[in-house]
Amino acid sequence: MSEGNRDRRAALPSVDRVLQAPSTVALIERYGRGLVLDAVRDALAASRAAHDSATADDIAAAIAEPLRRRMRPSQRRVFNLTGTVLHTNLGRAPLPEEAIAAATEAMRSPTNLEYDIDEGGRGERDDHIAGWLKRLTGAEAALAVNNNAGALLLALNALAAGREAIVSRGELIEIGGAFRLPDIMQRAGTRLREIGTTNRTHLRDFADAIGPDTALILKVHTSNYEIQGFTAAVSATQLAPLARKHDLPLIEDLGSGTLVDLTRWGLPHEPTVAESLQAGADLVTFSGDKLLGGPQAGLVVGRADLIAKLAKNPLKRALRLDKVRLAMLEAVLRLYADPDRLAARLPALRLLARPRDDIAALAERLRPAVADALHGVASIAVAEVKSQIGSGALPVSLLPSAGLALSPTERSGRAVENLAACLRSLSIPVIGRIESGRLILDLRCLEDETDFVVQLAALRKS
Ligand SMILES: *Cc1c(COP(=O)(O)O)cnc(C)c1O
Repeated sequence: MSEGNRDRRAALPSVDRVLQAPSTVALIERYGRGLVLDAVRDALAASRAAHDSATADDIAAAIAEPLRRRMRPSQRRVFNLTGTVLHTNLGRAPLPEEAIAAATEAMRSPTNLEYDIDEGGRGERDDHIAGWLKRLTGAEAALAVNNNAGALLLALNALAAGREAIVSRGELIEIGGAFRLPDIMQRAGTRLREIGTTNRTHLRDFADAIGPDTALILKVHTSNYEIQGFTAAVSATQLAPLARKHDLPLIEDLGSGTLVDLTRWGLPHEPTVAESLQAGADLVTFSGDKLLGGPQAGLVVGRADLIAKLAKNPLKRALRLDKVRLAMLEAVLRLYADPDRLAARLPALRLLARPRDDIAALAERLRPAVADALHGVASIAVAEVKSQIGSGALPVSLLPSAGLALSPTERSGRAVENLAACLRSLSIPVIGRIESGRLILDLRCLEDETDFVVQLAALRKS
């Protein structure tokens, strides 16, 4: 080792010296000794490797930011300005205050989750939500599991294990995140009997496929795509008499499955769970956190004898909901009892039904603050944009919305990506979408204007 290196190495304090520095003591107070010790060792090793000299205070200053980052929650709040309201990667539906209060209470205390208070004995956890689901859909019975993929897995395993389920080739869907209908069917132990063609399936295709091994007919709502042109599909109304004639359950996977007619709020029509049951489906499965606007859950409603079979299946135990999510779900379903106030109280619906003019006014209000914060970095314009419902619901119907279009001043190849990264680096990350060289911030889902504006100051500094 050269003289110079030895000298510089001697210029580093010992671990103990750093730990005794007042600013390190303050960090230990906040984060605990173990994490601080690791950070000090890492910082000293880095200085040594770089042949840098440093004082105890330098090291203490150098570890503050890495420690803050390490202790910051991994799952954090973000601003969803992507224009996709029910964004699966951003946690789908925001929950109403009523659900948040119910969840907090259930988390803090013991509850009557599976306890019948009147009888003083064992109760059923699904009873907390089954009554509401029956009332809201007209079904005889209902149950809830972890998510809709789980609901489908459970229904297929309980009713068609070792036997065939008939599905149209036009409905063999893949939902994002490795949910493919044929794979789910295989895992459920059900044999897939594909019928018809990609674009056309007829009632006679179903009739011809029914044999001694048939356990059920499955209809899947093609929620994330649309087949257009020369097409034919068989509705639940047409399938129901055929299923009944052969004594086969007709199951409809609605996916998004809303409980109310969305046209009431000027939104496109999405088949409701009640409509599917009225059309003759024996069971309907749908998600809790898509158009329903609740927590992640998979709901199954329909014939009581079939629901009883699902409830008895061991997979139900593996896929059941915990008390916190049941509390949230119950609170959300209770809001549906009063459809007149639903749009005001249920955030998912409120955001979807938010008038374009309100969003445009917000864009006008925010433009100067954003322009000021990004002065010299990007030019900001108010833009007409289109939002999507998301989570596969109504993929082709877009909602007129408004937002800000950020055009980077610099013309370099990655300027817009850098701008997007800069907004993501804010303490509440702002997630937009890049479209033809501009960063688009769709303001439909921005309700907390103050929090958004306050943190813009950090952009000016960076
Ligand atoms: C979204 C969707 C699913 C999966 O639901 P999760 O609640 O995400 O598990 C299944 N089927 C259809 C038709 C869907 O749209």
